[in-house]
Amino acid sequence: MHTKPQAQRPEWLIGLATMALVGLGYFAGAWLGVTQTISPEGNAIIWPPNAVALAALLLLPLHRWAWIIPAVMAAEVIADIPAFPLWAAVSFGLVNLFEVFLAASLIRWITGPRFDFDSLARGGYFLLFAPLLAAGTAALFGAAVYRGLAVEGIEYLAHWQLWWFGDALGLVLLTPLLVILARQYRDILHIWTRTRLIEAGALLLLLGVMGLVLMATADAEDGGHPLSLVLLLPPVLWAAARFGVPGAATLVAVVAAVAIARTVHGSWPLHGEEPEGAVLALQEFLAVTAIVGIGVSLLLREIETQRMRLRLFEHAMEAINDAVIITDARRPDAPIIWVNDTFETLFGYSRGEAIGRNCRFLQHGEEDQKGVKEARDALCRKQPVQTLVRNYRRDGQPLWVQLSLAPVCDSHGQVTHFVGVQHDLTELKRLEEKLEHRVAERTKALQEANRLLEQLASIDPLTGVANRRQFMTQVKKELARAQRNGTPLSLLCLDLDHFKTVNDVHGHQIGDQVLKDVASTMQENLRPTDLLARMGGEEFQILLPDADIQQASEIAERIRSAIHALEIRQQDKVVNITVSAGCAQMGQDGKDMDSLMRVGDQRLYEAKALGRDRVVTG
Ligand code: GH3
Ligand code: MG
Ligand code: MG
Repeated sequence: MHTKPQAQRPEWLIGLATMALVGLGYFAGAWLGVTQTISPEGNAIIWPPNAVALAALLLLPLHRWAWIIPAVMAAEVIADIPAFPLWAAVSFGLVNLFEVFLAASLIRWITGPRFDFDSLARGGYFLLFAPLLAAGTAALFGAAVYRGLAVEGIEYLAHWQLWWFGDALGLVLLTPLLVILARQYRDILHIWTRTRLIEAGALLLLLGVMGLVLMATADAEDGGHPLSLVLLLPPVLWAAARFGVPGAATLVAVVAAVAIARTVHGSWPLHGEEPEGAVLALQEFLAVTAIVGIGVSLLLREIETQRMRLRLFEHAMEAINDAVIITDARRPDAPIIWVNDTFETLFGYSRGEAIGRNCRFLQHGEEDQKGVKEARDALCRKQPVQTLVRNYRRDGQPLWVQLSLAPVCDSHGQVTHFVGVQHDLTELKRLEEKLEHRVAERTKALQEANRLLEQLASIDPLTGVANRRQFMTQVKKELARAQRNGTPLSLLCLDLDHFKTVNDVHGHQIGDQVLKDVASTMQENLRPTDLLARMGGEEFQILLPDADIQQASEIAERIRSAIHALEIRQQDKVVNITVSAGCAQMGQDGKDMDSLMRVGDQRLYEAKALGRDRVVTG
């Protein structure tokens, strides 16, 4: 039904057109039924008009249903009046209206607003509600009307059966054809290629030949057995398989038209039976042929639709840039049954190598990973899970993947399969590791810089010996240690003699060199546990753990004479220098560092005053 032009046309016009079309169709059906389908014995084989009315109800929107009532009533009365009184004609019209409205209401209530013969379920509902339920029920009333007409010789039940079977056959044969032609005419027009036309011709030829053979064997009077009508089924199935629902419905209609016409003419294979039995057998044969033909074509259509869906999903799965694995949860050890292309490229295993194995082969034995355990737990609980797993490529390269696992259940809720999607995170993981490595490197560099800074803060940059700050820190520790252990501790205070003159005569640069050489000479004459520091300018102090004043004095003397003997060469100059020193011992010269230093300094000045280049001990 077109929707675009309808929007512009007035509703009453569409209604009238619908009414006229359905009325004419109904009348034509009634005329056919009454004049063309009556067996020689006077039995009606098929009642086609209800099929027209039902097709209209299945195709029309609900708000146009009302137009069908006057159409059916008028056509029925016009068709019936020559043979029946008005009350009977009106009653027949009402019964037929009841039948088609009941069928259409039930079908559309169950299958939704847009009915078509496009699935097995819809075909099934049509069969159940229209020919079986509605026609069977309406026949009860129709038979009652006949009873009212007091037709001689026929029982109520026989009337009921005649009405039911005639209506049911009409509905089964014609309604699908009309609905399909209206709904699917575009598809039908499209399939007609040259080969299709040839095939259709061959099919009709086969049907014709079979019909002729059937009739020839039925007419045989030499005692040969008539062939079964079942022979007509192969062409019907051929039509169902190759030309779909429209092809099957059309072929069944052709078979029905020929069979009914031949029966009316008295030359159909069944005519040999007694009259009622022959009509009944024909009705049954045609109903079964229609149901089988249309049913099979619907089934094939459904299979094709499913196959298309399956192909679509398979293509979608192949198009995914992640590896997809499906495992069979019902078989022991849940083997892989399907993998996509990306799986092959990502892991380097071919389909053949993967299918049939449990997924664990991807872990190369590393099954105690946290992610793998999580996945295994979820599998046991039949729950979906997302986790990080390290798998391995075929060539042994590690592959970090984000694994999404989901169970697939059958209609009973039983888990049948698991679908696993593996998203490659290797590059991300590599970047993360690179970043971590760089952070570690930076941390190391920072620690080194800190260490250097600390060193700079504790070392005299010119001579490389400890500075005042470092000396004072160490002194505190040594002092505490000496007090704790009761060991002696001594201090030397040293100052270069006439150093200013060195600077003045040779320059500051040479003065610096003198300071460096003096510091290293002092260091050479000390034990590793002794601590030498440059306190500022050309003043040095030395802390001597485990040394009493006597030993301190000896060390001081050793240093003094070493410096005395020192010849500092710079360019072509030779510079000599001497040092004066004052010694003090912890305990006897002072209890804390301040007093010890004061005493040491005093003795140093004494040494200066006494003429320099000497050691003063006490
Ligand atoms: P004295 O024997 O009395 O100790 O005589 P002095 O010349 O050593 O006396 P003073 O303490 O007055 O002189 C110290 C000099 O040391 C003054 C300063 O120019 C020099 N000086 C201090 N620090 C540095 C340094 O880092 N490098 C150099 N080249 N000279 C320094
Ligand atoms: Mg000085
Ligand atoms: Mg000096």
